[in-house]
Amino acid sequence: MRDLAKLPKAHLHLHFTGSMRVATLRDLSQEHGVRVPAALLDDDPLRVPADERGWFRFQRLYDAARACVRSEADMRRLVDEAAADDAAEGSGRLEIQVDPTSYAPFVGGITPAVEIVLDAARSASAAHGVEVAVVVAASRTRHPLDARVLARLAARYAGDGPGEVVGFGLSNDERRGDTGEFAAAFGIARRAGLASVPHGGELLGPAHVREVVDALAPDRLGHGVRAGEDPALLAELVDAGVALEVCPASNVGLGVYADVAAVPLRTLVDAGAHVALGADDPLLFGSRLVDQYESARREHGFTDAGLADLARASIRASRASSGTRARLLAGVDDWLAAGDPDLSSPSHPPTG
Ligand SMILES: [Zn+2]
Repeated sequence: MRDLAKLPKAHLHLHFTGSMRVATLRDLSQEHGVRVPAALLDDDPLRVPADERGWFRFQRLYDAARACVRSEADMRRLVDEAAADDAAEGSGRLEIQVDPTSYAPFVGGITPAVEIVLDAARSASAAHGVEVAVVVAASRTRHPLDARVLARLAARYAGDGPGEVVGFGLSNDERRGDTGEFAAAFGIARRAGLASVPHGGELLGPAHVREVVDALAPDRLGHGVRAGEDPALLAELVDAGVALEVCPASNVGLGVYADVAAVPLRTLVDAGAHVALGADDPLLFGSRLVDQYESARREHGFTDAGLADLARASIRASRASSGTRARLLAGVDDWLAAGDPDLSSPSHPPTG
């Protein structure tokens, strides 16, 4: 079995605050005198019985962590560490998601907040050898007009390289807000060439995925895993080339599935879906990017060839330049070729 940390891949679903290391959270909470729940400082804050998981516990912990990020230096540190951690896990392309609204009060507004993240992304890309691009995300809990303001801001920094905005997202509790009311913001983003990458289909099922698809025309769905419950919908997503940013640890942490084995990764991949595995919020879910690939190997029987295909799908679903994608895809071929030829055969049976 090959080392999954050396498998080149793209990481398309990682939130700014949620990427934080536990040690960094401890530092920042001390530095700013902000108390955080003890659960956040243990190794796995959502390791609780399935009926105690769920959105509200997650949201409370996430808000507590976010309250510790209070300066430009903190913001730069988070981006730098996210890039370093991604690079160490074989990610050649990180598209990190940020809603600048929460940090704006500490740095003089949403524009400086975005500029700090973009500048830090540029520096981190050079320092760690991973391209860090940015997805600006609006929140379902705020007014749709706020989303339009964010979309116009994001549009000003549109590009595909390090330190540029590549996509526009919609995050927070899927059950909040009226999806259709965010369509205008996504229209602004789309006209600027940004990818449409809203969350959908994690807490809510196929009907919600349908709603998001119809209203926001996603290029990628944040999660979308519940589309597996509706074969016709899933086939439509496959035909339309909508990639799914599947985050198994998140699904389990939020109590959507009882364990990783129950995440329908096989169903999605077998239907031809373009799946990009992501960590979502390592701080809360206790695992990072490579763990998602490890669990695909361990719980779903993916061979090295199958894991290489997942990595390829993540790279192809990224907004990286064609040159970067070609380089990373060649790296995947090398990773596969470097191992035992018996194990690299696509017909090699799952090892369980
Ligand atoms: Zn997310």
